[in-house]
Amino acid sequence: MKHYQIVIIGGGTAGITVAAQLKLKDKNLQIAIIEPSEKHYYQPAWTLVGAGTFDFDDTERDEADYIPKGVDWIKDKATGVNPHTNTVSTASSGDVTYDYLVVAPGLVMAPELIPGLKEAMDKGVVCSNYTDPKHTWEVLKNFKGGNAIFTQPTTPIKCGGAPQKIMYLAEDYFRKHGIRDKANVAFYTPGTIIFGVPDFAKTLNKIIHDRNILFKPFMAPVKIDAKNQDIYFKYIKPEEDYSIPSDNPIGEELTESKEIKVHFDLLHLAPPQAAPKFIQDSDISIQEGPGKGWVDVDIHSLQHKRFSNIFALGDVAHLPTAKTGAAIRKQAPVVVENLLKLIKTHEVGHASYSGYSSCPLVTRYGRMVLAEFKYDNVRDSDPMISKFVDTSKEQYSMWLLKKYGLPFMYWNLMLRGKA
Ligand SMILES: Cc1cc2nc3c(=O)[nH]c(=O)nc-3n(C[C@H](O)[C@H](O)[C@H](O)COP(=O)(O)OP(=O)(O)OC[C@H]3O[C@@H](n4cnc5c(N)ncnc54)[C@H](O)[C@@H]3O)c2cc1C
Repeated sequence: MKHYQIVIIGGGTAGITVAAQLKLKDKNLQIAIIEPSEKHYYQPAWTLVGAGTFDFDDTERDEADYIPKGVDWIKDKATGVNPHTNTVSTASSGDVTYDYLVVAPGLVMAPELIPGLKEAMDKGVVCSNYTDPKHTWEVLKNFKGGNAIFTQPTTPIKCGGAPQKIMYLAEDYFRKHGIRDKANVAFYTPGTIIFGVPDFAKTLNKIIHDRNILFKPFMAPVKIDAKNQDIYFKYIKPEEDYSIPSDNPIGEELTESKEIKVHFDLLHLAPPQAAPKFIQDSDISIQEGPGKGWVDVDIHSLQHKRFSNIFALGDVAHLPTAKTGAAIRKQAPVVVENLLKLIKTHEVGHASYSGYSSCPLVTRYGRMVLAEFKYDNVRDSDPMISKFVDTSKEQYSMWLLKKYGLPFMYWNLMLRGKA
C-alpha cells in the first residue's frame, strides 16, 4: 500500500494551488495528488466561451504541466475516504494512506434532481455554460426571438453569478444583432434578490430595469418538458400564492396553485450541483441537516471539524460563501499555513479565511462589475483596484481584467503557487 505524508484529492484549481504552495514552502514534503483527468480547465472563461468571445481551447491545458515538480500524480479516481484509518481508496490504484489529507475534488452536476433535465441538457435550445459552453454559443447564434429564459437551481452552485452573466451577454448580443425587439429576456431564480451584496445589487437592478430584463425571484425550476419546450417553476415565497401578472409577455400559465409553466425558445440554466458521491458517502461529509453531503470544515481554519488531520477547500467544502476560484486563491494560503504548522507543532496554525469570494459580473460585451465580498455578504473590494476604479459600476478595465488579466494570473501565478 502506498503511503504519503500529504495526499490531495483533486488536481483542479484548489488541489494544484495548494500543492504548488506547499512545495514552494518546503520541497521535502512527500505529496501525492489523486486526479483522473488528463486535462485542466480554466472554467471562469466558459462564460465568455458561451458568448463567443473566448476560444474554448484556450481554457484547456494538460494537467501534467501543472502537477508541481516532486509531487506524485496518482492518475486515478478516489472512490472512498476512510478518516478513521487515514485511507483513500481509488478505482484501480488500490488504497493510499496519508498522514494529512487535503480534500479538493470539486463538485458534480446533478441534472437528475430536475425531472426532464437530463434528457434536455445540451440538446436543441437547452444549454448551459456549466457543461458545454460551445453549445451555448450555438444556441445564442441560432436564436431568432421568443422567450429567452435563464435560471438556476435551489442547490448550491459554483460561481453563483454565472447564470446571470450569460444572460447579460446574450441580451447584449440580441440587441447588437437586431433581434432584441422580438425577444423576452427573463431571469427566473429561487433567490429573493438579484445579488446578495447591496452595492452590486444596486447596479444590477438598474441594468435589468434599463435593459427591460424580466426579473422573477422565488422561482425554483422543478421540471422540464424538452419536447414542448416548457419549463415549470415552483413559486417558493412562503405563505403566498402566485398570480399571473396582468402584463404577461412571457405567457406564464398557472398549472397548479404554485406551479408556473413557461414556454422557452432558449433556455440556459445552471444544473443542480452536489458533492461527489464518494464524499457524500464518507464520514468526512456532513451527515444530516443543512450542508448535508459537503465536507464539514471550520469556516475560518478550513480544518475538518472532527478529523484534525484533514483540510478541505474549494467547491466541495461547506462554506457559507460563493464557490469560486477567486475564493480558492484566499483559501489556499490558509490551508497551507495551518497544515504546515500542524505538521511541525501538532497544533493547527492561526491563519483564518474571511469568506472572501468574487464574482466578475460581465454585464455586456466590454463591461464588467467586479463584485468582491466576504462572509455575511459584506463588500470586500480590493483596496488597490478601488483606488483607480469604482468596481461596483460597469467598467471596461474590469472586462479586460476578466478576458486577459485573470486567465494569465491563473495559469502563470496561481497554479504555480505564486498568487
Ligand atoms: C461557467 C462557470 C463560470 C465560472 N466563473 C467563475 C469566475 O468568473 N470566477 C471564479 O473565480 N470562479 C468561477 N467559476 C468557478 C470555479 O471554476 C470553481 O469554483 C473552481 O474551479 C473550483 O475549484 P476546485 O478545485 O474546488 O474544483 P475543480 O477546479 O472543478 O477541480 C476538481 C478536480 O477534482 C477532480 N476530481 C473529481 N472527482 C475526483 C475523484 N473522485 N478523485 C480525484 N479527483 C477527482 C476533477 O477531475 C478536477 O480536476 C466558474 C465555474 C463555471 C463552471
